[in-house]
Amino acid sequence: MKIDAVVNTLSRLVAFDTVSSNSNIELIQWVADRLAEHGIEAMVQPGSEPGKANLFATIGPAGIPGVMLAGHSDVVPVAGQQWTSDPFTLTARDSRLYGRGSADMKGFIACVLEMAPRFAAAKLVQPVHIALSYNEETNMDGMRVLAKYLAQSPVRPAACVIGEPTSMQVVVANKGAAIFRCRVQGFSVHSSLRDQGVSAVEVAAEIICYVNRLQERLLGAGRNDGFEFPHTSVHVGRIEGGTAHNITARECTFLLEIRALPGVQAAQLLAEIRNHCEQVLLPPLLRISEECAIEFETIADTPGLDETGNQALADAFMPLCGCPDRHRVSFGTEGGILQEIGVPTIVCGPGEIRVAHQPDEYVETAQLEACMEFLESLCQRLETTPCA
Ligand SMILES: [Zn+2]
Repeated sequence: MKIDAVVNTLSRLVAFDTVSSNSNIELIQWVADRLAEHGIEAMVQPGSEPGKANLFATIGPAGIPGVMLAGHSDVVPVAGQQWTSDPFTLTARDSRLYGRGSADMKGFIACVLEMAPRFAAAKLVQPVHIALSYNEETNMDGMRVLAKYLAQSPVRPAACVIGEPTSMQVVVANKGAAIFRCRVQGFSVHSSLRDQGVSAVEVAAEIICYVNRLQERLLGAGRNDGFEFPHTSVHVGRIEGGTAHNITARECTFLLEIRALPGVQAAQLLAEIRNHCEQVLLPPLLRISEECAIEFETIADTPGLDETGNQALADAFMPLCGCPDRHRVSFGTEGGILQEIGVPTIVCGPGEIRVAHQPDEYVETAQLEACMEFLESLCQRLETTPCA
């Protein structure tokens, strides 16, 4: 077991400050150079914005659909968080390795890189692909760009494992993750003349009440008991608007989040909300001022991972990572995007999701060891039998 080497690689990866708002190019180039040292050629794919790139590499026989091991290179911000040690310096305390991204999800990437020479030396009957993406923590653009490329490739991967932290359990389904910004424009007057003005704050409150009623309805609409909260959730987490107690607010914005059960379209729920705004809320406001408006902007909309279609893959992988049963999680992953291009996908990686995004994020050394054992089992399996 080369766990010291894995820890060393992880410390290099953590040292790249790849918070989603920053460039990830240095990390990607470092990985590409490292793979090149082992004779593995990697494609660095430019992203949809400057300073961003994906990486895609194939190890093993060319021209055959392989098993893709995927990880996102970006991490969430540390601003405003109280860390015991520098978040970008991997620090060992007890049996834990602390650092931003140690669990989510540079730990998995470190294991995959450490196994790459082993994969390269093995006589694989089915290739392994390594995929690194950007912006997973914001709008998932990186995987969208990569998925577009893969969908047009002559040989697209046969299956994918995304190494998000699941404590090495096999996850077969996750909810979608959609974020919308609603901007209400009212009409400003002195509040003593309130009948001549429109408070954007009050209109936003009406929309949010409608969102709450929608949630009530969704409780009766369908459930999937595999999830801790077994329904689609709609939630308003941030609101901003108004200037003073005696001025009807000209502007109010809020963020609406929809975590849709697999198979439920967030955009369709948004269409319902929008329809209510246009048909019911807006007409009386426009009679007061033509300036009034209610607009919705999509910040992110990622489909859920649906377990129909990945059962055979789960069956193949559960023995490899010693996981006795299938799990479902409520956090978003890039899995739904890959499923859309016909690549069966499961989620399985080292570390715990509850420490992800938190101050003092850590991964247990034992989790990295378990991940290395899993990758070794995968390698041995691929020396004899394809996985998908
Ligand atoms: Zn993640």
